[in-house]
Amino acid sequence: ITFFGILLLAIVAFAGWSANRAATETEAALLENAFNQAIASVLDGQKSVAWWDDAVSKISDEHVDLEFTDSNFGVFLTETYGHNEVYILNGKDQPLYSYAEEERREPAAFEARREDLTSLIFEVREGRTSNLRGRPDEFGQSQTNYKVLAGAVKLARWGGHIMSVDGRPAVVTAITIVPNVDLSLHRGVPNLLISVIYINDDFIAKISRALLMPELKLSAEPARGRAIVSQRFVGDDGIDVGNLSWETRRPGHVLLTVILPLVACGVLGAGILSNQMFKRLRHASEELAQREAKSRHASRHDALSGLPNRMHMLEKVDEWLAKGNLSPNGRRAVAAYVDIDKFKDINDTLGHETGDKLVRAVAERLRSRLRAGDFIARFGGDEFTILCLAEDEQGGKRLAERISAAFTEPFSIDGQSMRVKASIGIAMAPDHGTTTDELMRHADIALYDAKRQGRDRAIFFTADMARDVETRRAIEVDLRAAIERNELRLQYQPIVSCRTGEIVGAEALLRWRHPERGEVPPTTFIPIAEDSGFMATLGTWMLDRAARDTKRWPDLDIAVNLSPLQFRQTDLPKIMKGLVDAHGLVPQRFVLEITEGVLLEANASTTSTLDALQAMGFQTALDDFGTGYSSLVYLCNFKFNKIKIDRSFVTNASSSETSRAIVQSVASLGRGLGMEIVAEGVETEYQAQLMSLFGCTELQGYYFSRPVEVEQLSALITKFKPWQAPALARPALIEHTSGQSKASA
Ligand code: C2E
Ligand code: CA
Ligand code: CA
Repeated sequence: ITFFGILLLAIVAFAGWSANRAATETEAALLENAFNQAIASVLDGQKSVAWWDDAVSKISDEHVDLEFTDSNFGVFLTETYGHNEVYILNGKDQPLYSYAEEERREPAAFEARREDLTSLIFEVREGRTSNLRGRPDEFGQSQTNYKVLAGAVKLARWGGHIMSVDGRPAVVTAITIVPNVDLSLHRGVPNLLISVIYINDDFIAKISRALLMPELKLSAEPARGRAIVSQRFVGDDGIDVGNLSWETRRPGHVLLTVILPLVACGVLGAGILSNQMFKRLRHASEELAQREAKSRHASRHDALSGLPNRMHMLEKVDEWLAKGNLSPNGRRAVAAYVDIDKFKDINDTLGHETGDKLVRAVAERLRSRLRAGDFIARFGGDEFTILCLAEDEQGGKRLAERISAAFTEPFSIDGQSMRVKASIGIAMAPDHGTTTDELMRHADIALYDAKRQGRDRAIFFTADMARDVETRRAIEVDLRAAIERNELRLQYQPIVSCRTGEIVGAEALLRWRHPERGEVPPTTFIPIAEDSGFMATLGTWMLDRAARDTKRWPDLDIAVNLSPLQFRQTDLPKIMKGLVDAHGLVPQRFVLEITEGVLLEANASTTSTLDALQAMGFQTALDDFGTGYSSLVYLCNFKFNKIKIDRSFVTNASSSETSRAIVQSVASLGRGLGMEIVAEGVETEYQAQLMSLFGCTELQGYYFSRPVEVEQLSALITKFKPWQAPALARPALIEHTSGQSKASA
């Protein structure tokens, strides 16, 4: 804009200046023309007397008719045409007549002018140009339309110049005196008429008027003033005779004085405006770029922790895999999934705000433990991913150690110290996968395994895990179809009362006969059902089947197992109510076995569900007591009807003093709280007697019967010989007796 502004100003200035110059040049040309016209008009005056028969005959070397010459030349030319000096020379250029300052002079007076006029005389006589500057022959060009004078025009010669005479500028012309009618009078070299008209103020004023050129002056010094131009006025003889000055029209004046400043203002304004505009534009585009960068950052970062997000991390893995120079014997890319253990519990019990703070604290801690070049991202929820490049196989192990070390110190949230552990799943490229998808999937599988193995550990991916996952996935798919295909059924395992020795109940246990795999144990497929969200359907199906079967044995307590997920994902009271209505189920005969898992996640809703179920009359049993957390708080907080002591205590009771002590304590505690105590996994007579002695009220296990098909249970009951509980304090019992299974016996 500056460039074009300056260019525009230059163009306007040039236009103004050149218009002025052109005008001045035109004026100078007009002046020049006016001088040429002046010469022509002097010649015109001379011609009127020089081309005349009388003038030829009356003025000759022999005789000059002075009276005639005075009246027709000297006086006539000076009075009529204003010539200042008039001379007539003969054929040899000797003066015949001189007239100056309004009176006749001696002819020899011409000699004072001869030197000044020699060149002109030479031009006229010789018909050639002299050292005088040439001028267009205006006079000659106007002598074409004569008829009478045509002869004279042919004979005559003339010439005229502006030159300095006696040091003064003057128009000087010379013309030969020739006959106009009787051409025979023309003999030899004709006489020459010379006129001198001094260029004085009058002369200039006349031109000024004619050309409408104000302020035209001829002066010694160049004139000064606004719009006045001054030019050297040089005669045709090259003599400088002064300065010709006039007021020029200056057509470019408005352009230069009005338009140019306006344009300059405009350019300046446009410059300032556009400068402002560019500044704003730049500001805006900078802002835009900033916002763009911000939103790009936002799209690639996690808002909560400020760490790169999943998308960003996947790009990073892509990048490393593509040009990380990885090799099976050298450099590896290690991907570690880090999952905060029991984060959900923290969230549920302490609130989401604390959960968020913990996520941030863990992010900060992990970040502080990274080495330069490592990459950390938040994958969502409580899951983080850490990537690093390792120079050897041990790199993965070192990363695992570094991550684990980050969780040894407790975290401080709101001034509260919190011990948090993490499960870590690690996969390495190229060992465990060469694509991003493979690597991340395998790290995820390893993480899953770490959680399954009890959390708070780092697990490396192995090929077995992948196979396991494959199997699990296949089982999951088949399990969903198992109900329709009628592959599921229930088996019942009798429960014997220590008091009567009779079968007083049975536990319903899920069975699945897979067309290809055969019997799949519930310990395999129930966790899969729980993980895949199928547990609710499966559990409901199982309850319905058990409720139906219950009618066959109106005297037995039938126990069913409930998964924690059934509390979360289904409306248990409603389902149970439906079963009561549909099958005439007697709630008091139905025992709901729940594990500590249910209570561990206990919140207002699970507690109220349990209360509601109990209020409907259902019995409850705390299953697998002694594994897990075994907190007595559960026993106090919730009033179970039964406690089922885990099989492991029964198995260990003969060898472990601790196990015996625990079983005894739990039994007496349960009795104190008015609960039934069930011993699970009783396999020998010895165990049965021991458990009975320790105070268990019911026994369940292979010693009495394995779980049996629904059709077989009735027969089993009728066949069953009541078991003889030991009398108290039989010392022989302490010795180990490897009793046979009663049922098989
Ligand atoms: P659980 O509730 O502790 O069930 C008892 C398990 O111990 C049964 O295994 C049973 O066959 C086994 N058992 C009984 N007596 C003995 C014994 O003397 N020696 C030994 N070694 N084992 C004995 P099963 O049927 O394989 O069930 C395993 C687990 O699967 C169950 O443990 C229960 O937690 C779960 N489960 C089974 N059916 C269901 C169900 O319908 N729903 C839910 N949610 N879980 C179920
Ligand atoms: Ca059970
Ligand atoms: Ca159990």
